[in-house]
Amino acid sequence: MAKTALVTGSNSGIGLAIARQMAQAGYQIALNSFTDRPEDHALAETVAAETGQRVIYLAADMAKPADCRALVERAHETLGGLDVLVNNAGIQFVAPVEEFPQERWDAIIAINLSSAFHTTAKAIPLMKAAGGGRIVNIASAHGLRASPFKSAYVAAKHGIVGFTKTVALELAGSNITCNAICPGFVRTPLVEKQIDDLAATHSHLRKEEVVRDIVMQKQPSKQFVTVEQIGATTVFLCSDAAAQITGTTISVDGGWTAQ
Ligand code: NAD
Repeated sequence: MAKTALVTGSNSGIGLAIARQMAQAGYQIALNSFTDRPEDHALAETVAAETGQRVIYLAADMAKPADCRALVERAHETLGGLDVLVNNAGIQFVAPVEEFPQERWDAIIAINLSSAFHTTAKAIPLMKAAGGGRIVNIASAHGLRASPFKSAYVAAKHGIVGFTKTVALELAGSNITCNAICPGFVRTPLVEKQIDDLAATHSHLRKEEVVRDIVMQKQPSKQFVTVEQIGATTVFLCSDAAAQITGTTISVDGGWTAQ
């Protein structure tokens, strides 16, 4: 029977690319986001048609613990198994700590960090019963380095790196690995909004100058990471070649964290 993968936050950006590449690698896929629109289900049909795999869409809000846990159960029941869990859902908000809205802090910690605790806690017994599995957490270069004005995001991403290591140790020897991918800047809607906000603040700069002079300051390669590169890294972490890779981070960041 085909293996199965659940990717949280996968109707856009990196999550969608991971889902596409996992489907191309032969997995049945559960896509997810918090919306439940006809276009979300149509997207699942599109990826299914592209890849020849079964692809379903399951709405669940990763800000809500009960939704996170129910999502894992529904994916397992509907697809008939859960071999891979990719914790990808994430949001961003940028402000100085003393002005950071409490509600934004709570949402970032809930979606970018706590959701992975809830999905992972629910997935582990299912993976153990099946004799193995893979957990891939989409952290960030901000799981390893800080930037000003991103306190909640940096705290959540450092948190998920620590969580990844702990889960890996608890699962060592059980044929379940847990790793984190740490992307640098990838040009998805999440980053496009930051570029637009920076362009508004630095009104003397054109958008591509904002990218070159501000965003790419962090990334020595001066090139965006592509969503396909993160998808392929996820497929690798789920392959037999990666069976002994656990509790670690893989940076895909154009040299950001070499600095
Ligand atoms: P994106 O905005 O394109 O995708 C985010 C996804 O999460 C979307 O599918 C969105 O619907 C979903 N999501 C948001 N809130 C949700 C909720 N409450 N419940 C369920 N789903 C929810 O952004 P992206 O850049 O593809 O981000 C994906 C992940 O990659 C995030 O964890 C992000 O922190 C991480 N990341 C992104 C970059 C980058 O440069 N784009 C770099 C490092 C890490």
